[in-house]
Amino acid sequence: MIKYPFSDIPGPGEVQKVAPGVFWIRMPLPFRLNHINLWLIEDTDGWTLIDTGMAMDEARNAWSRIIEKHLNGQKINRIIVTHFHSDHAGLAGWLTDKFSSLLWMSQTEWERTRLLTGGPTKAWSKEVLKFFKMAGCPEKMINETHSLWSEYNKRMSPTPDLHTRLVDDMVFNIGKYTWRVLIGTGHAPEHVSLYSEELDVLIAGDQVLPRISPNVSLFPGDSGDDPLGGFLKTTSSFRSRLPSTALVLPSHNEPFFGLHDRLVELIEHHKKRLDEMAGLCIRSSSAYSITTKAFSPDLDSLQLSLALTETLAHLNHMVSKGRLTRNIDNNGIWAFKNT
Ligand SMILES: [Zn+2]
Repeated sequence: MIKYPFSDIPGPGEVQKVAPGVFWIRMPLPFRLNHINLWLIEDTDGWTLIDTGMAMDEARNAWSRIIEKHLNGQKINRIIVTHFHSDHAGLAGWLTDKFSSLLWMSQTEWERTRLLTGGPTKAWSKEVLKFFKMAGCPEKMINETHSLWSEYNKRMSPTPDLHTRLVDDMVFNIGKYTWRVLIGTGHAPEHVSLYSEELDVLIAGDQVLPRISPNVSLFPGDSGDDPLGGFLKTTSSFRSRLPSTALVLPSHNEPFFGLHDRLVELIEHHKKRLDEMAGLCIRSSSAYSITTKAFSPDLDSLQLSLALTETLAHLNHMVSKGRLTRNIDNNGIWAFKNT
């Protein structure tokens, strides 16, 4: 069973204690998913921050209030970013600049952050347009998605040149307590979660969320990959690597207990989605036609583009397991079919 131990949510520019020396910050996002959680941890001679918020004025204003009211005059010496997405990494450059902080990230996530901060290139545009065309999307959606995704770097401050590389099972101290790195995949290629055994607290990032399932997508350039296979593997491995008693601090929704139950739910959710999508490949089907049947019709443009990439992650997983075949039809569109 999932239980939420905190009845209050911190307001913008406020912090709330959730464990010894661990404070919850909530930052606004300009999407239907309208918030992200960040975690501020007492360190020796200052603070360590987990994730940063998106580069937008509302988040910078909230940060100004936190810096003034809640840091006790001390600096953020270290910033750990769980993965490259702009809601997590967006203000990393802005904050490291302000405090001369160190940035700690996994190698792949840092590289992706740097790549995307640079803005869209011609080669990127070509790949995105081709990808959504091969998925069978109508022209209007392809163009909308392309212009929406082209704006990604507007939500990022420049990525710092240097970083300390985080790897799986790496152990280090933040203040009085020891934390261990758990690398996960599926939502992002080398996603960092952190677990403290002494506190029995898991900073989950987007790897485990309580009320929504983390987006697992196949993106342009990843066409041969199996991100869903990676996500299912990480989710199973968390059951053996982490205790069921942990207080989970997720990047979206609220802190919760019931880690193992949630991990089982996430695996079951994807198994069900795989069956549903396999059932929709009656004859030869495009990823777009399956998306329109598998998701609700009231999605906004961003959500529809991510529903499509999430559908492709499921379809590609079934191709890699031999349950479906993927061919290119006469119009140059991927055609998925039950074997
Ligand atoms: Zn994310």
